[in-house]
Amino acid sequence: MVEKVIGVDLGGTNIRAGLIDEGGEIAKRAHAKTPHNGSASEIVNAIVNLIRSVNDSGDAVKNVGIAAASVIDFQDLRKSMWPNLPQLQGLDLAGEIANISGLEVTIENDANAAVIGEHWQGSAKGAQNVIGITLGTGVGGGIIVNGEIFRGASGSAGEIGHICVEPDGVPCGCGSTGCLEQYSSATAIVRFTKEVLATFPESPLHSKLEFEAKDVFEAALKDDLAGIRAFEVAGRYLGIACAALINLLNPEVIVVMGGLAGSWNLLSRSVLEELQKRAFQQAVERVNIVRGVLGDDAGILGAAKLTFADMGFSGS
Ligand SMILES: [Zn+2]
Repeated sequence: MVEKVIGVDLGGTNIRAGLIDEGGEIAKRAHAKTPHNGSASEIVNAIVNLIRSVNDSGDAVKNVGIAAASVIDFQDLRKSMWPNLPQLQGLDLAGEIANISGLEVTIENDANAAVIGEHWQGSAKGAQNVIGITLGTGVGGGIIVNGEIFRGASGSAGEIGHICVEPDGVPCGCGSTGCLEQYSSATAIVRFTKEVLATFPESPLHSKLEFEAKDVFEAALKDDLAGIRAFEVAGRYLGIACAALINLLNPEVIVVMGGLAGSWNLLSRSVLEELQKRAFQQAVERVNIVRGVLGDDAGILGAAKLTFADMGFSGS
């Protein structure tokens, strides 16, 4: 019998679940909006309902992996930080889900899970040293060293979004200032566009009262100079952080994931310029920067892979 587990990806906006076999096939998927204004128990219930909806083989599945938008503290799960879902602060989410569902629960940070997913079934397959960067509303990261996720002393390693790229820069939700998350996220793209828009009176973005990173992306694809400039600035900061990561870790692959990964072509030129300026040439020549190919499935696949590893399966 092919062994299956359930992978769950709990984000600030969406919860996804999948029934996944040891070969990485997703047999069934389910999705719900995260009740982000609801109580902790509403979030727990939403997760349990999704687990039940994909678990059609009943008792056969005994394990679930959760990729969570949380800085996990593996020494004491109740000390994990939930910047986007503060109502979960102080809760042992994995323990709670285990109690209600009767399943064994593995938990991991969502960006770590996403890079594990890409390493297992996506664009970082076969590489030993990988850095994953998720570019979305925020910026997340995960590091694979010698084929294994690198968690650090308590589990918070890989928070690439909170590398400082501008010492006296924009305040960040983490308490610091000038974090990469404030300079290379979708939020930053919108801010940069607003800052430069007056310089580009012909920009079609003037016709919108409010716009999102997606609108800037579409304008930039149509050669709007304000949009192109915003992505260049974001790419420059991303390049500064990537140069530091390359000098530190000498990875074979950097996987760019998340909602902004589709705009890599707009970011890449200024990223590569910074790498040429700042990183060791030998390491820059060695690294392959690729886009993730798993999209929204990266998190559930990574959570499933970790769960198989906890069960003693090496996976394929
Ligand atoms: Zn920060």
